[in-house]
Amino acid sequence: MISDSRRCALITGLGGQDGSFLAERLVEEGWEVHGLSWRREFSDTDMEVAGTRSHTLDPADATGLTTLVRAVSPTHVFHLAGVSSVWQSWQQPVYATEINALCTVALYAACLDLQEQTGLRTIVVNASSGEIFAGSGVSPQTESTPVVPISPYGATKAFGFHMARVFRTRGLRVSSAILYNHESPRRPETFVTRKITKGVVDIVRGRSDTITLGNIDAPRDWGWAPDVVDCLYRMGQREEPNDYVVATGVAHTVRDFVRVAFDAVGITEWESHVVFDSQLARPTEPALMVGDASKARNELGWNPTMGFEDIVRAMVAHDVADD
Ligand code: GDP
Repeated sequence: MISDSRRCALITGLGGQDGSFLAERLVEEGWEVHGLSWRREFSDTDMEVAGTRSHTLDPADATGLTTLVRAVSPTHVFHLAGVSSVWQSWQQPVYATEINALCTVALYAACLDLQEQTGLRTIVVNASSGEIFAGSGVSPQTESTPVVPISPYGATKAFGFHMARVFRTRGLRVSSAILYNHESPRRPETFVTRKITKGVVDIVRGRSDTITLGNIDAPRDWGWAPDVVDCLYRMGQREEPNDYVVATGVAHTVRDFVRVAFDAVGITEWESHVVFDSQLARPTEPALMVGDASKARNELGWNPTMGFEDIVRAMVAHDVADD
């Protein structure tokens, strides 16, 4: 456990789904919380969290990053910023690489610099992704599954994962959380789950009659974002760095999500409300993405609180109430 009483977190991507949940929790617990975002071409969520301080840098400004990390001197860095979806990474692969890969190594280097200059041994928790295993042919995936990405997003996350291990050999306490899809009402509509729950509400309200989707047979291991954030928090409590799969272990298809979302508003005959558009299908789809989080459960005492149906219903209920 952390002996130092000073608790100061630098959260990259604080305005995003996971960053905002984590920041709220840390502020409530009395941490000093800083947010860092990189100037970006598009940003799909940008929440503000009271009681935090925000900083913005140009992605190419590694010197500025080193200066900022020295000035903040965080006891913990939660690295959650990035181009967060596979789809976006196919739209802008160079930008995704700059943000997800280059900014990640710049951040590790800045934390190592801080450690070497001041002796402050910052704990770094890096948000990696189950997409690093997408081409492995192995299911369920564990921390020792071969890293075989099949998308620009997956490749950038694999880079950050490998670099974390490389920087660990230099003494940086950097851990990777290998995250599977995780949702909440804060998910932007670039992700299929929120697109569906918003689409269902549009249909209920009579504003539209259909939702247009790509491949609805794709399976995903969908968790609840606050549960995932709880695991990141637990990882931050460990002095010894390690890698953890953070997943529910259960896969459902997009079709299952659609069915439960419509059911939540009393529509059982949903098929006529869903239209297929081949433009929305992906160039590549991973094999069965399901994570085995036994290690996180056993070593961190992590237990997800929400199952698949609860997640879908909570998101629909939020969007109905918010409409
Ligand atoms: P991802 O796992 O990070 O790519 O999360 P997404 O929520 O973007 O996509 C999950 C799955 O939904 C993928 O297999 C997509 O191919 C599938 N999908 C089907 N229709 C859509 C759509 O309209 N939008 C998105 N984003 N995904 C879709």
